Amino acid sequence: MKIVFPGDKIGYAEEFVGGEGVYEENGELYAAVAGKLRIKDRIVSVESLKKIPEINKGDVVLGRVVDVRNSLALVELSRKSGSDRALRHTGIAALHISNVQEGYLKDLDSAVRYMDIIKAKVVDAELLKLSTKGREMGVVKAICSRCKAELVLAGDKLKCSRCGNIENRKISSDYGSGRWE
Ligand SMILES: [Zn+2]
Repeated sequence: MKIVFPGDKIGYAEEFVGGEGVYEENGELYAAVAGKLRIKDRIVSVESLKKIPEINKGDVVLGRVVDVRNSLALVELSRKSGSDRALRHTGIAALHISNVQEGYLKDLDSAVRYMDIIKAKVVDAELLKLSTKGREMGVVKAICSRCKAELVLAGDKLKCSRCGNIENRKISSDYGSGRWE
């Protein structure tokens, strides 16, 4: 049994078909979740090690973006929205570029970045897949990628309170309101 982690390269698209828990990027296949690697009839999949008992499909959760790749952001879940308590079991969830917003998104980088706090809906509790579609979902807190100061709302963009840098995000309607805290 082989255990893989999110972002681990597990093969090539010409060699395998990506199943559950697997995503493709530039012809290469990567694990989207932590779990057991399974290969059957050329279909490679990753079976999630364990779901987080407290997390169910449809839950709204908060977490920090810990890695952003071309088409997938990894989010360390901290708690459910509306709850003061941290999750007893934390986990790394995946936000795929196709689940960020309605319509096409060219660059994941223009929607979420490393260290952002996001509010997202759980669309698959077994594989810990998230969606930030909808007004309320998206980035609720972000720091400047240049100087690390907090970004504040400036129309439909974010602006650095220190250096004036302008950045794009998939912004939640809760951005900066503190209502998510
Ligand atoms: Zn700045």
